[in-house]
Amino acid sequence: MTGRTTPPPVEPDPFSDSSEPRPARWRPAVKLASVVLPVCLIGWLGWQAVANSSRDVSAHPTSSPHFAEGDRVDGGAPTGSPAPDGSASTGPAAPSSPSAGAPDAGKGPLAGKTVLLDPGHNTANGKHTTEINRQVDIGNGHKECDTTGTSTNAGYSEAEFTLDVVHRARQILQDRGATVVLTQDGDRPWGPCIDERARIGNEAKADAAVSVHADGAPASGSGFHVIMPAKVVAGPADTAAVVDPSHRLGVLLRDTFKAGTGEPTASYIGQQGLDTRGDLGGLNLSKVPKVFIECGNMRNTGDAKRMSDPEWRQRAAQAVADALTSYLTG
Ligand code: ZN
Repeated sequence: MTGRTTPPPVEPDPFSDSSEPRPARWRPAVKLASVVLPVCLIGWLGWQAVANSSRDVSAHPTSSPHFAEGDRVDGGAPTGSPAPDGSASTGPAAPSSPSAGAPDAGKGPLAGKTVLLDPGHNTANGKHTTEINRQVDIGNGHKECDTTGTSTNAGYSEAEFTLDVVHRARQILQDRGATVVLTQDGDRPWGPCIDERARIGNEAKADAAVSVHADGAPASGSGFHVIMPAKVVAGPADTAAVVDPSHRLGVLLRDTFKAGTGEPTASYIGQQGLDTRGDLGGLNLSKVPKVFIECGNMRNTGDAKRMSDPEWRQRAAQAVADALTSYLTG
């Protein structure tokens, strides 16, 4: 903790500072990059032009108010992944940029379907406490814009976990032809806020949405659970139309995740791995079928060990993708 009040240094972009002198040992790599990168960029831009000609899912307002989700059920577990110095930034908020589906999306069982994947939290939220602590309207109340999330005792953060699982699930879904939109892709300094996370799915007109989290409950509790939206009609919230389809998605995800990962359903919350809540902005404000999954309890030794294993995360991602596929093709 340094108490620093000036904005932290901007994350270096290895491709934007080529004019700066580098140590001699870097030069061959830089020379190679100077040839390869423009070629790759031109190719990528070409793909983007083709993909965006049919559907532009990357454009959305960036001036929105608002928030992120607190999913810890006990409210007392230590908050994981704080910033190294815990300082709040006074720098400008960066716009959110959801990731579009693969350029070649359009073939496979999910062709024409759009999926919203929401990696809970953001690895840098701890550096932006002022921004993420802002209260946002979730219809029936107000909540913090976002939270830092939890972590394992070894320091593996929920935000790292959620983004990794989402990346893996995105690949599977894209391979099946879906257009996959992410609420954040490690490409913004904090957030998005929970209301923006919902709005990104709404504006993408997602056919289904899954928000990936890990819990920070008391260490004695273990297992995963799926959270489905309660009926909330208040202010900007109106889940009436999505309660039933979200329930169908939730049951599919519960069954698929249990079978695919071997993780038991939560011992400490919900019923048979299912819970319904009306206090999560990401669900209250969603106009598309959406569920959360708490993949396990990071404070529990056994769950933490599994979630820290890349092979287990692949199985978790497979389960998420399979549940979405069943939902969208059923
Ligand atoms: Zn979370």
